[in-house]
Amino acid sequence: MTRKSHNKRVALFPGSFNPFTRGHQRIVERALSLFDNVIILFGININKPETDEAMQAELASVKELYASDERVSVEAYKGLTVDAARDFGADAILRGVRNVSDFEYERNMADINMKLSGIETVILVAEPQMALISSSMVRELASYGADVSDYLPKK
Ligand code: ADP
Repeated sequence: MTRKSHNKRVALFPGSFNPFTRGHQRIVERALSLFDNVIILFGININKPETDEAMQAELASVKELYASDERVSVEAYKGLTVDAARDFGADAILRGVRNVSDFEYERNMADINMKLSGIETVILVAEPQMALISSSMVRELASYGADVSDYLPKK
C-alpha cells in the first residue's frame, strides 16, 4: 500500500499580526502538533499602504523569532488567503478563536474560503490565559507607554 507519509502537512496562518502576540505564538506552537509546517502569512492591506513599513518591520522580527525553527516560515501576501494557500501549497488555513465574536467572524471566513476553493480551516480555541490578548490591546497599551512585554512572544 502506498502511504503518503512523506507528504508534509502545511498550515497557512494568515493575519494582520499588528503586532504578533504571545497568543499568535501559542497558536503556531500548538498547530505544530497537527501540522509539519506552519506558514505565518502577513496580509498586505492594499487600502492601507501607510502601514506597510510597520508591517515589514514586524515581519522581520517574527522571521527572526522563528529563524532557528525550520518548521515555521514567515511570508507576506497581497490578495486572497485562498490564493495564497494555493501558491504556498497549504493543506489548511489556521486561525484562532478567543470568544463568540471571534467565532462568528471565523466561521464566516471559513465558510467563504471553503466555498471559494474547498480548503479546510482549522480553528484552535485560545487557552484561557491567552484569551484576553489582542493586537489592538497591545497597540493601545504601548501607545500610552505601558509595559506590554507579557503579551509579546517569549524568545
Ligand atoms: P486578522 O486581522 O486577520 O483577524 P489578527 O492578527 O488579529 O488578524 O489575528 C490572526 C488570527 O489569530 C485570528 O484568527 C485571530 O482570531 C487569532 N488570534 C488573535 N489573538 C489571539 C489569541 N490571543 N489567542 C488565540 N488566537 C488569537
